[in-house]
Amino acid sequence: MLTTTLYVTIEPCLMCASALRQIGIQRVVFGAGNERFGGNGTVLPIHSRKYQRYAAKH
Ligand SMILES: [Zn+2]
Repeated sequence: MLTTTLYVTIEPCLMCASALRQIGIQRVVFGAGNERFGGNGTVLPIHSRKYQRYAAKH
């Protein structure tokens, strides 16, 4: 998973961002922000170190 990049049209929501993090997706490229539920920066930056303690341990 270290080299996997996910391309999507809309920014993943909070649940998806968390799931992507837990399975180890390192990079997500999205076409547009999700103003209501965006989990990769628009609402909450789930990918940032601030939220690291909520991630699953591997
Ligand atoms: Zn989602």
